[in-house]
Amino acid sequence: MNRIYGDQNRKKTNLTIAVGSFLLICLSSCNPNTTSTNPTAINPSPSQTSYQTESKKVILTTFTVLADIAQNVAGDQAIIESLTKPGSEIHGYEPTPSDLTKASKADLILDNGLGLERWAERFYGSLKDVPHVTLSFGVTPVLIADDAYAGKPNPHAWMSPQNALVYVENIRKALIKLDPANEAYYTANAATYSQQIREIDQKLRQEIAALPPNKRYMVTCEGAFSYIIQDYGLKELYLWPVNAENQGTPQQIRKVIDEVKTNKIPTIFCESTVSAESQKQVAAQTGAKFGGVFYVDSLSAADGVAPTYLKLLDYNINTLIKGLQEG
Ligand SMILES: [Zn+2]
Repeated sequence: MNRIYGDQNRKKTNLTIAVGSFLLICLSSCNPNTTSTNPTAINPSPSQTSYQTESKKVILTTFTVLADIAQNVAGDQAIIESLTKPGSEIHGYEPTPSDLTKASKADLILDNGLGLERWAERFYGSLKDVPHVTLSFGVTPVLIADDAYAGKPNPHAWMSPQNALVYVENIRKALIKLDPANEAYYTANAATYSQQIREIDQKLRQEIAALPPNKRYMVTCEGAFSYIIQDYGLKELYLWPVNAENQGTPQQIRKVIDEVKTNKIPTIFCESTVSAESQKQVAAQTGAKFGGVFYVDSLSAADGVAPTYLKLLDYNINTLIKGLQEG
């Protein structure tokens, strides 16, 4: 029998054991600052009780960007929720016991893979009966060039619209496996959404192509843009390859200062989920303008500038172009 159609009673028994073990692990290692964090839904959140009565499948994603992409494919036939809330730092996230309880009642978990969710292995170890699907499957990884992560895949594959089409197809297949009765519906949604992704990809490509080649620099805090710079013929420069605790070191800051000066880069940026202090230091020491933050590892809140994946793409590239033109 397919894992997706696991026996609910067995699930409940295992849940009690799983939550117990997770709590024991948590007592010694969970970050106390995150234990009160509740997962936030991208769409109106179902109540806890609706999990038992709702006939729709419940699908969790590891972060908000995946939740939005999945929601576009699932439409109104599945409940999609992100475990991490908008604005969360996702690489080093510490799942809470309530995340585990929620996940153990879900029908499916969608993750990114490529080493993004450093916390996932232990989390899944406590969720033996809940299937998970890795959405970057089939993407050609770009390898990280430097620092401790050198040679490892850059996890931010979703930042390329071309890769997002792969994610959409993986979501479509996963939904059909979970809920075959709605195959035609999911396939139609995936086709419509993929077309929207292709359209924004074309638009952004044309906008970047209008920039003078010597201005096409994307200077960021995290090296999260390696996929999109490859697609659009940009050059990237970043303070650290992947968000981690030990970032913005004097050496990392020095290297970017030198490059910004050498290449006379007018405007530099950071990302919404990390502190921009180091990048502001670079701006102060080079005379470059600090152009604001990009959205990568999280959508903005619903009333913010990047509440969906498509708006995130558009906002980032337009912020970049505006910064480079004005700088
Ligand atoms: Zn990241």
